[in-house]
Amino acid sequence: MKSPRKPDAIMFDVYDTLFLNDPAAWQRAFQQIAEEQGLEVTGTDLWTRWKKHEVGFRAWRTNMDDPDSSPPFKSYETAWRECFEKVFEQDNIPGNAADAARRSVTHMAHRDPFPETVKTLSELSGRVPLGVFSNADDAFLRPMLDEYGLTSKFEVIESSESAAVYKPHPGAFRHMFAAMHVSPDRTWYVGDHLYDDIRGGSEAGAKAIWINRNDAKHGPDDARPVYEISSLTELVGMFDRSE
Ligand SMILES: [Mg+2]
Repeated sequence: MKSPRKPDAIMFDVYDTLFLNDPAAWQRAFQQIAEEQGLEVTGTDLWTRWKKHEVGFRAWRTNMDDPDSSPPFKSYETAWRECFEKVFEQDNIPGNAADAARRSVTHMAHRDPFPETVKTLSELSGRVPLGVFSNADDAFLRPMLDEYGLTSKFEVIESSESAAVYKPHPGAFRHMFAAMHVSPDRTWYVGDHLYDDIRGGSEAGAKAIWINRNDAKHGPDDARPVYEISSLTELVGMFDRSE
């Protein structure tokens, strides 16, 4: 690999980049919701029904053909509550949507870091300023980073909630670069998601690095990263080789 240019900062996505956020974790949360509320539905079934609406929220919230015409910002807790309201109403389930959304938020604060996350961030934080921008509510993002002692590794911790805009909207990235006082082309942005992170990061002018842990393939319309890695560990070598 050709030596990359040394960045002024490295910024990260969080879920599925630094912390595993798989469907099994969601289904456990929804199982708990069903049990707590005495609903006659399994966690998996409830999650599948709810997810159909939640995917719609993700598509609705950002208009990348004309980002300035994107609808007003809504936190995850609000959007998730509305998704629960739809499921409960349409499927005649006597659930409490606000409590279910609240429980989903608390669950999202409990995810496991990938095995190399803490070590890699510790190594990099001594060499280059690090930051985070996550599509997340602060109510779950910050406690999760705190739990693993990661808050002090980052100079900047920003979220869709603090920026009031979701990736891949360019405003999310502008917010992040301004908070970090870096120019986009001097920043590495590392993420797992080809639309939110790689398209968003590239269009905003950052060097977008795709963490592809499961050997996923690009679709023809997917944004192209500048670099692709399969583990965060590779970043340390990349940074040391950069000039
Ligand atoms: Mg992610």
